[in-house]
Amino acid sequence: MTHTVCLIPGDGIGPEVTEAARRVIDATGAGIDWVPLPAGANAVEEHGDVLPECTVQAIETHRVALKGPVTTPIGKGFKSVNVQLRQRLDLYAAVRPVRSMPGIRTRYEGVDLVVFRENTEGLYSGIENTITKGVVTSLKVCTEAASLRIARAAFDYCRERGRKKLTVLHKANIMKLTDGLFLDCTRRVHEEVAPEVEMEEMIIDNGCMQLVRDPGRFDVLLLENLYGDVVSDLCAGLVGGLGVVPGSNVGDHCAVFEAVHGSAPDIAGKDLANPLAVIMSGVMMLRHLGEVDRARRIRAAYNDLLEHGTPAELTRDLGGTAGTRAFAEALARRIA
Ligand code: NAD
Repeated sequence: MTHTVCLIPGDGIGPEVTEAARRVIDATGAGIDWVPLPAGANAVEEHGDVLPECTVQAIETHRVALKGPVTTPIGKGFKSVNVQLRQRLDLYAAVRPVRSMPGIRTRYEGVDLVVFRENTEGLYSGIENTITKGVVTSLKVCTEAASLRIARAAFDYCRERGRKKLTVLHKANIMKLTDGLFLDCTRRVHEEVAPEVEMEEMIIDNGCMQLVRDPGRFDVLLLENLYGDVVSDLCAGLVGGLGVVPGSNVGDHCAVFEAVHGSAPDIAGKDLANPLAVIMSGVMMLRHLGEVDRARRIRAAYNDLLEHGTPAELTRDLGGTAGTRAFAEALARRIA
């Protein structure tokens, strides 16, 4: 069966790492019909916008996209492509599996957790105001509808994947209304749909401390938007950094798969980037498309490459000397 998948190369290292992912996915014989689409700083010259309408429409039509990182200028200019995409396509759940990888030495072993981040509201609603000179505000939005659906997505995931425990990280002791509602909705969904899954409530600052002391005690984490963003990167650091953490942004209609890392302008165009996180995001995408066997083959191939690969096959951040393309070729050779 052929799948049509939107491919957004993005900015910086984006074109290099998405090309590598495409090479590896195609090596499984998945027969994907890729539709390249513009987004990011590179799209402005031709389309006058960081997120051209044709890109949004194509994702709405084909429902699945693999996306490279895009550069977002700080403090001025266009609204973030990522925030726009998540809001316009209602990709309300960011799902980021974080696990210790064979061959990647870190301070921790046996980390295997999944971050569920609410993706559409909170402090990312973009409602900022200047009250008077020198005084600005940002509005944190929490709705019952968005909180219930992200909790449902997280508990459904626990049940489908046999995950035993969900920890909700919050600051409801201070933000009594917003985080209070988020927590209350999580409790309600827990009771309704998954009482057999253990639910743990933890204040976010304590949660960060527990994560760096003993990440193995966590299974699935549920967080509102800003906490989820920050804790995702913290969790990436537990298993070897941004180069090895994939992600998906999922709604009821569409899904966009992308790495947690950014466009890395410092190494862009130098064939230095590690494409693994985008390739792992591609594995999540194949699973989403029902291509479970092909997803497994890629996973087996990168596990083997990380454990047994020669320095000439591994990128520099993994202790090797290979470029982005050589890494992808080494992976493609291992796909049985
Ligand atoms: P970054 O993730 O781009 O880079 C952080 C550090 O990690 C850099 O030293 C970089 O060289 C390194 N790095 C990142 N990915 C790597 C990879 N695949 N292989 C090897 N090294 C890698 O974060 P940043 O510097 O904070 O952000 C740069 C730009 O990316 C900003 O414009 C930011 O807004 C954007 N960004 C985009 C996304 C996205 O599109 N999903 C996510 C995060 C940041």
